[in-house]
Amino acid sequence: MSKQDAGNANGTGAGATSGARKGAASKPKTDSPFGGLTIDFGRGGGAGGGGVAPALPTIQIAEAPPSAVPATGGPATQPAEQGRTESKLIIVGSGPAGLTAAIYAARANLEPIVLGGTTPGGQLMLTSDVENYPGFPEGIQGPELLALFRAQAERFGTLVLDVDVDAVDLSGRPFRLWARGVEYKAESVIVATGASAMWLGLESETRLRGRGVSACATCDGFFFRDREIGVVGGGDTAFEEATYLTRFASKIHLLHRRDTFRASKIMVDRAKDHPKIDIHTNVVIDKVLGDEKVSGVRLRDTETGEQSEMPLDGLFIAIGHRPNTDAFRDWLDVDEKGYLIVRDKTNTKIEGVFVAGDVHDHRYRQAVTAAGDGCMAAIDAERWLESQGITEATTLTAW
Ligand SMILES: Cc1cc2nc3c(=O)[nH]c(=O)nc-3n(C[C@H](O)[C@H](O)[C@H](O)COP(=O)(O)OP(=O)(O)OC[C@H]3O[C@@H](n4cnc5c(N)ncnc54)[C@H](O)[C@@H]3O)c2cc1C
Repeated sequence: MSKQDAGNANGTGAGATSGARKGAASKPKTDSPFGGLTIDFGRGGGAGGGGVAPALPTIQIAEAPPSAVPATGGPATQPAEQGRTESKLIIVGSGPAGLTAAIYAARANLEPIVLGGTTPGGQLMLTSDVENYPGFPEGIQGPELLALFRAQAERFGTLVLDVDVDAVDLSGRPFRLWARGVEYKAESVIVATGASAMWLGLESETRLRGRGVSACATCDGFFFRDREIGVVGGGDTAFEEATYLTRFASKIHLLHRRDTFRASKIMVDRAKDHPKIDIHTNVVIDKVLGDEKVSGVRLRDTETGEQSEMPLDGLFIAIGHRPNTDAFRDWLDVDEKGYLIVRDKTNTKIEGVFVAGDVHDHRYRQAVTAAGDGCMAAIDAERWLESQGITEATTLTAW
């Protein structure tokens, strides 16, 4: 097994990103994803037209409260003010889908608990510039965006705990969920546990994530206009990403460890015919080169063992995603790739259990689509709770 194979086998993790420009333009990241944050939206001059836009208020986000359970292992203890373990709705996951669901559910007086996982904020937390989320014409850092999501959910009474759900019992209501030995109960559940991009597992790759190493062409391709980049993989995802990236990059080197491809023949033929794409087979990446940002890769020929260096401005890892469904697989339907299967928008085969975001959606995989899904799941959960007489039917819409 080559070094890269070993990396592929082990290397999974929540995503990070970016590109040449991203690396250079990145603001320093906060130590804690949800540490104190001040964002000043109050710019005097408006973006458009000649008028002077009124200054908007400064938003102050307070230091997030500590997690209600110890950071690592040990017996679970609950501080009195955060001691809620029961709710009409528990949301699992604190990415865009989970936190949007929480905003809607909290504003519908469901007092949701979010069991947000040990990657609070989800995939965007390791991302630098996000330029395609509506409402931020100048872009926003991924962690800042998710801090705003969380502050908005907490403002309306959501309790967010940064713990992983290890096991669930969805056999009857109340549904039961366990995280670090603590049992939580809920009349309804939204599963928004997302998916994790798979990585090669190289130290240099991890260090340069957000500095030219990415796992999302749709998100970061734009940053590589007229640059020379690499795409790693041999499946449909790699070929799709390479083809997509021809819109921006001047040259794309598709790097694959074998000489056969899992991708469909039509995708491979299309790439072979494309003047911007060069396909390199039987190569693995031993190291991603660069200090502050990606400057190239060190390749090894899997047949001869010969090493060579290839100068590159960016590297897209396109070896797949792993849906975070371990705790739910025994209860909910999954497809052949392990993604949850939804019925009628956000429903599952278990009444009262709903799904939102990348944990079922491997087609769009965007923050805005995950957030939209979270909104739909919360509305569906609220209506279902009403239909069961668990909450009072409202004449005024809470949304
Ligand atoms: C490198 C990269 C860059 C990207 N850049 C962009 C971009 O610029 N714009 C854009 O729109 N999208 C971007 N995306 C895609 C975007 O991040 C995702 O589509 C979006 O985050 C999905 O949201 P989600 O809430 O469904 O899942 P996630 O963001 O994956 O969040 C999942 C949540 O579930 C939690 N969780 C997992 N397992 C458990 C468990 N057992 N118990 C409790 N909690 C659990 C995690 O801790 C996490 O909080 C990027 C993705 C990557 C990988």
